[in-house]
Amino acid sequence: MIVVYVETTGGVVAEVSLEALTLARSLAQAGGGIPVDALVAGPIGDSVPKELAEAGVRTVLHAGSPDFDAFSGAAAASAVLAAREATRAVVLLAGGTNRGNEVMARVATRLDVAMAPNVVAFGGLSPFTVTRQVVGGAAFEEVRLSQRPAVFTVAGHAVEAATADQAGPATLTPLEVELSPADLVVRAVSTEPVDTDGADSLKSARVVVGAGRGAGGPEGFADVSELAELLGGQLGVSRVVTSLGWRPHHEQVGQTGSRIAPEVYLPCGISGAIQHWAGCASSKVIVAINTDPDAPMMTKATYAVVGDMHEVVPAINEEIRRR
Ligand code: FAD
Repeated sequence: MIVVYVETTGGVVAEVSLEALTLARSLAQAGGGIPVDALVAGPIGDSVPKELAEAGVRTVLHAGSPDFDAFSGAAAASAVLAAREATRAVVLLAGGTNRGNEVMARVATRLDVAMAPNVVAFGGLSPFTVTRQVVGGAAFEEVRLSQRPAVFTVAGHAVEAATADQAGPATLTPLEVELSPADLVVRAVSTEPVDTDGADSLKSARVVVGAGRGAGGPEGFADVSELAELLGGQLGVSRVVTSLGWRPHHEQVGQTGSRIAPEVYLPCGISGAIQHWAGCASSKVIVAINTDPDAPMMTKATYAVVGDMHEVVPAINEEIRRR
């Protein structure tokens, strides 16, 4: 039995949870059709059981007591443990969000087993093997989980969410969870949604100005943002930038971000790693700005400007404003 801790946003299943369910299905298939159950803790949207059924879930366990109305990592972990008791699950997983990682880390601690975060692929059942991202996504590591239950989280945007080939209806089953006062000590008091409309405008933008580690820090994006605005385009960034928290994820271009196909792409201070290239290779014209003439992006670009983006970009902005 496999149990996936499912998060919902705005009453629908979060994309990361659908990605985790997709990986769970490949594991279930390898195990000869082990059932995949989902746990939802807190209010559940009307469409959630149907969405989960389409993702191949057999039973949706719902911890719906008012104690789960506000998120508490400890309470959610208790719900996962109750779900495990109810199903005798041998695998417990979640999407690799802050919450998913917190909940599964608590679960692993309480069960005294190891946890593997940021898994990107399932390798095999015996031994139970997964591949996970390490060093901020710069390398992969193969991990064997010898303890049961196997506990892990799935790295965000590393697996493409897909619906199940054979999906039946999912049964919605209430799950009783006994909570201790300690489970409710730390609770979320308010949640502010992040505007992700930007990702859609990025995918369809005719001009994209890119910025990578060369920006130097969160304060290094003013000139590239201005250039994007002057050209009526959008800002796109590399994964280093989002991993370091300099810019939000919805601005990321690449294999695990948005795939763009603008008329013109201007990557500034971006080396052009294969995972970034995967997202921008369809650009019609590429004008790269980089201090290193041998950076892969410079050798692949239509035009390459060798120079410091903090000097070149303001000069371009000034020239555009002058005209
Ligand atoms: P770096 O590789 O560090 O390059 C910085 C560049 O800036 C260098 O070329 C340097 O010469 C130049 N530079 C420095 N200072 C200046 C300056 N002042 N002016 C001009 N140039 C300067 N990456 C993505 O971007 N998108 C993805 O979707 C993505 N998905 C990934 C998925 C997986 C599974 C993995 C393992 C990795 C993924 N990556 C992705 C990461 C990718 O491998 C690279 O690490 C990342 O793209 C590098 O970002 P960067 O070019 O900004 O940084």
